[in-house]
Amino acid sequence: MDIHEYQAKEILSNFGVAVPSGALAYSPEQAAYRARELGGEKWIVKAQVHAGGRGKAGGVKLCGTEGEIYEACDGMFGRKLVTHQTGPEGKGIYRVYVESAVAIDREIYLGLVLDRSSQRVMIVASSEGGMEIEDISAERPESIVRSTVEPAVGLQEFQAREIAFALGLDPALTQQMVRTLQGCYRAFRECDATMVEINPLVVTGDNRVLALDAKMSFDDNALFRHPQISELRDKSQEDPRESRAADRGLSYVGLEGSIGCIVNGAGLAMATMDTIKLAGGEPANFLDIGGGASPERVAKAFRLVLSDTNVQAVLVNIFAGINRCDWVAEGVVQALKELQIDMPVVVRLAGTNVEEGQKILAQSGLPIIRATTLIEAAERAVGAWRNDLSQNTKVRAVK
Ligand code: ADP
Ligand code: MG
Repeated sequence: MDIHEYQAKEILSNFGVAVPSGALAYSPEQAAYRARELGGEKWIVKAQVHAGGRGKAGGVKLCGTEGEIYEACDGMFGRKLVTHQTGPEGKGIYRVYVESAVAIDREIYLGLVLDRSSQRVMIVASSEGGMEIEDISAERPESIVRSTVEPAVGLQEFQAREIAFALGLDPALTQQMVRTLQGCYRAFRECDATMVEINPLVVTGDNRVLALDAKMSFDDNALFRHPQISELRDKSQEDPRESRAADRGLSYVGLEGSIGCIVNGAGLAMATMDTIKLAGGEPANFLDIGGGASPERVAKAFRLVLSDTNVQAVLVNIFAGINRCDWVAEGVVQALKELQIDMPVVVRLAGTNVEEGQKILAQSGLPIIRATTLIEAAERAVGAWRNDLSQNTKVRAVK
């Protein structure tokens, strides 16, 4: 799960990371009021969306007067911000963060990620702040400092000092840098984060080390341990299809093609998508119904997949171990009866109770296209979808 910049800043500052003073606003009037409260002469108005690259996309504006704050807000509230991280549809702006503008002397990149090969938290830093890490590693790879943290002892002071030295930081700032690094590491561990990124971390004109931007992501499977973080979830920033699925305990990934996939297990989802591509089609999404899916759950899955307007054919591919093919078949039949689906539906079942499952499909009298192997299922789904497209008539019922 991702959170907003202002939320990440609040968490990090509780762990001792210094941030500029700022306040949240839900309207232009409130933004102007916040600026007056903050005092000073210059403010930064920042669109709060779950994506980076806001600066270049017009989502970060320097303002010197109340009029400029209104103008910046008018260009943000209720609009979609499209950055290189949002995809072409963009993300809606419903909150802005008003922050005191600070004089920047130096920009540093700081990121903490989970390094799977060493199975440790890795600190990645670069003297080239302000640029995206992908660009830094392409253009200035020698500027990147990496350091993994031994989990039994945590981030040691000497290790944090080494990072500060490697970045060429003025020795007078080392202590502030150590505090920042240790704060980020503790926040990462104690909140079960998967990523903390401060880009840029700056040295100000008056020699303070401040986090000007902050990004945090959390391990969804650990959110139950952090109710206060779970509450920060902002559905307006999520793919509505994915959040509807999450609300129903299903896991859904939206894609760009035209064939909707209902599967059980992420591995089978990958194999199904590969096979659809091999057969010449493109998946519109995949929905993982998980193990032990009841007929009701399968019917719910159908409703969700079909609510995606890109879907022009559905492929159900279930390998039943814990699941039961007869339950899945009942769910498919129930959904097709209720939903009056006017597109090809291909079902491939294998595993527990497969004969009973096939029987339920065959006896339903519904135009379900059945397949035995995965490649056959994918070819039939792609074939039926193409036929539908070319003839503009609905191809149904193989058997
Ligand atoms: P994004 O990464 O989404 O573009 P940032 O928060 O990093 O957004 O802001 C973009 C740029 O705006 C920063 O690199 C920094 O140069 C400038 N900036 C952001 N906040 C402030 C601030 N409080 N004072 C001065 N400049 C800022
Ligand atoms: Mg940034």
